[in-house]
Amino acid sequence: QTIIEVNNLSVNYGNVTALSDVNLSIYEKEFLTIIGPNGGGKSTLLKAMLGLIAPSSGTIDINKTSESNRKARLGYVPQFSNLDKRFPITVYDLVIMGRFYKKIGPFHRYTKKDKQAAWDTINRLGLKDLTDRQIGELSGGQFQRVLVARALVSNPHVLMLDEPTASVDKSSSEDIYHLLTELKKEMTIIVVSHDTTVVSSYTESVACLNQSLHYHGDSELPEEVIY
Ligand code: ADP
Ligand code: ADP
Repeated sequence: QTIIEVNNLSVNYGNVTALSDVNLSIYEKEFLTIIGPNGGGKSTLLKAMLGLIAPSSGTIDINKTSESNRKARLGYVPQFSNLDKRFPITVYDLVIMGRFYKKIGPFHRYTKKDKQAAWDTINRLGLKDLTDRQIGELSGGQFQRVLVARALVSNPHVLMLDEPTASVDKSSSEDIYHLLTELKKEMTIIVVSHDTTVVSSYTESVACLNQSLHYHGDSELPEEVIY
């Protein structure tokens, strides 16, 4: 069953065409990696699926999940290098902010349920000792994990990660993929990456932007998509 359908999607920024006529079906509990060259429109595709950028033409359907009868909830782990780590906020406060998805107005209070969800996620990801740290004091790998926690705290059906291993060392990168392999049992995982070495060992399907190729159910990458 498909959870996201992208149909003839084009996105322009002024005169720049970031995406041109992209079609993509994403299945429930699939582990999909989207690869492509820098500037190929990978981040744009994620943002469009999240509703952060409006399509210039085409449509994106977020379907109901088979278990709930409600539209899939999406969790987003933005690209690490775009975030300001000097922002004065603790790990706990950053994680619980992930519960904002359903809140409106600046003066809301977190409920007991929000707090419980934050603690559960922090414990699950092994971040308990870092709870009261400022984000500026974290290593790249730790911060990446905190960003995953923030995305997971809203119990998403689809977890989208933009270059999750771009700013971390090899061992943290393996930790992250190990975590994603675990999470895959519960949700759809979409990773955007230009790193084809991690791609082949973890993912089950690969979509390549700019080469109109969508490769399903085989971990072996075809020759022409390896840069
Ligand atoms: P990728 O994630 O594959 O590196 P992006 O989606 O970030 O690609 O960018 C695709 C194209 O759109 C690039 O040419 C980039 O310069 C351009 N682009 C991205 N964001 C903007 C923006 N906010 N304004 C103008 N051009 C943009
Ligand atoms: P309050 O409602 O008074 O703001 P919180 O629920 O935010 O209280 O928790 C206050 C402190 O209690 C936290 O900083 C944390 O140290 C501790 N705490 C609360 N819940 C848990 C939990 N499930 N696991 C570990 N520590 C917790």
